[in-house]
Amino acid sequence: MPELPEVEIVVRRLNSALEGAEVESALAPGMVTMKTVDPSLDALAGRSFTGARRRGKHPIVEFGDLSLLIHLMSAGRLQLFDDRASLRDKKSRLLVRLTDGRELRLREFGTQQRAWAKLLPTADVDADESLAKLGPEAWPPPPLEEFASLVRQPHHLHPMLRDQRTIAGIGRSWVDEILWTSELSPFRQGNDLDDDAVERLHTAIEQRLGDALAHYEEVIGDSLPDKAPMPLQVHRRAGEDCPRCGTKIEAVHFKDYVMCYCPKEQTGGRVLKDRRLSRLLK
Ligand SMILES: [Zn+2]
Repeated sequence: MPELPEVEIVVRRLNSALEGAEVESALAPGMVTMKTVDPSLDALAGRSFTGARRRGKHPIVEFGDLSLLIHLMSAGRLQLFDDRASLRDKKSRLLVRLTDGRELRLREFGTQQRAWAKLLPTADVDADESLAKLGPEAWPPPPLEEFASLVRQPHHLHPMLRDQRTIAGIGRSWVDEILWTSELSPFRQGNDLDDDAVERLHTAIEQRLGDALAHYEEVIGDSLPDKAPMPLQVHRRAGEDCPRCGTKIEAVHFKDYVMCYCPKEQTGGRVLKDRRLSRLLK
């Protein structure tokens, strides 16, 4: 699941690999991938790549005054290949073929088609409805005072930090890591945090997302992998020992994600009710 650090490294790699690249053609094998029809993808032919950037979890690939705004959702990947996709590749959603034979490919794993792209005038991208309501970037995080006013809301920390309108770029994986690093319960309310807790949370966001990026800079080369080697310590590690205190990591399962935490350091020793288990026991 690509979050801020995973999208940021993609954008950095595309910027170095695509410098001067020219588009031969573009097509969308994903029937529902393109959320815009005018201008058509044909308008990219003959254009040169002029830069890639990121807003929240969205990669944006610019070709002069037209840009592709992309949402990878949970299973999409934006990758550069040395050759062309087989037309039988069911993962292909959007193909941007370059005159040098390479191909920028939006692929999606699994059967669902949820990843999407829009071709927009570059000047209009930031005003698009999917970006206009985003909060400030999670990394680097806003100054402490601004951050405090963002998070001191009557909401639980876990959903609030994943709410892109509060702060942009954090999802289900990194929120577990950030809360564990700051030793805060996922169910603490934002407006219940004292100054020390706000500062710990702010530091944890800066440190964990920054460390993840530094890690990717080391281990990810020019070719972007299907799965980023995420340096996670608690997320999806239920049942393992907490790397800091040795207590067993616990999990709460929700319909489409799992929340992991250290009960000793984050919830005052309490093991939170796992709704999946309690449903089974009824
Ligand atoms: Zn622990």
